[in-house]
Amino acid sequence: MSLVQDLALSYRILAEHGVVDAYGHVSLRSPANPERYLLSRALAPELVTEADIMEFDLDSNPVEADGRAIYLERFIHGEIYKLRSDVQAVVHNHSPSVIPFGVTDVKLKPLFNTAAFVGLGVPTFEIRDFQESGDIIVKSPHLGRSLGQVLGDKPAALMRGHGSVVVGDSLPAVVIRSIYLELSARLQMQAMLIAGPQGRITFLDEREVAETMARQDSARTWTRSWELWRSQALQRMTAERRKRK
Ligand SMILES: [Zn+2]
Repeated sequence: MSLVQDLALSYRILAEHGVVDAYGHVSLRSPANPERYLLSRALAPELVTEADIMEFDLDSNPVEADGRAIYLERFIHGEIYKLRSDVQAVVHNHSPSVIPFGVTDVKLKPLFNTAAFVGLGVPTFEIRDFQESGDIIVKSPHLGRSLGQVLGDKPAALMRGHGSVVVGDSLPAVVIRSIYLELSARLQMQAMLIAGPQGRITFLDEREVAETMARQDSARTWTRSWELWRSQALQRMTAERRKRK
């Protein structure tokens, strides 16, 4: 068991839950050097193994490129690590249920226990505020920094017409938040459909958010789902290796 292996498995867990498809990535601040981070080479998440993990400085230059292709949107990771010393892991994804909330005025709100963190606030990054128009991916330090500034001290931000970014203090935290952000968006859409245009939806209030999150943090309730998903992903990765031999 190592953090590099956990990072490779995180790609697979996110793919398994439909949070990432052929695109999307997760990074970890280097445990050895906080001025660096670890990210896969440009590859579909379901294929990532430990051998694909590369090291980058916070300006998102690879430490040793070795001719490998790298993600265009790596600046999301580097610039957020610069702005947020509390952040140890970052996920960028295009998870489908979240996208409608980035293109409308309907706000994501805390709807259920496991996604209580939504109640801390999920701002929307409008890329037109930072570039006139054009390609909407975050492929420069300027856009990465702008996204980080919109994120502020929040756990996640939506990216209009694109996806979202999710941050946390560990790999398990950021993987689990990404999975439950997708589920939360889907459930909120369902609640809105059932309630109808004028219908009432009861969301978690501020105190419910605070006390639910405090219990989750102190009891490390994430451990159970993380251990389950991690062991499933490890089994699949090990089986693939056996087949290749
Ligand atoms: Zn993207």
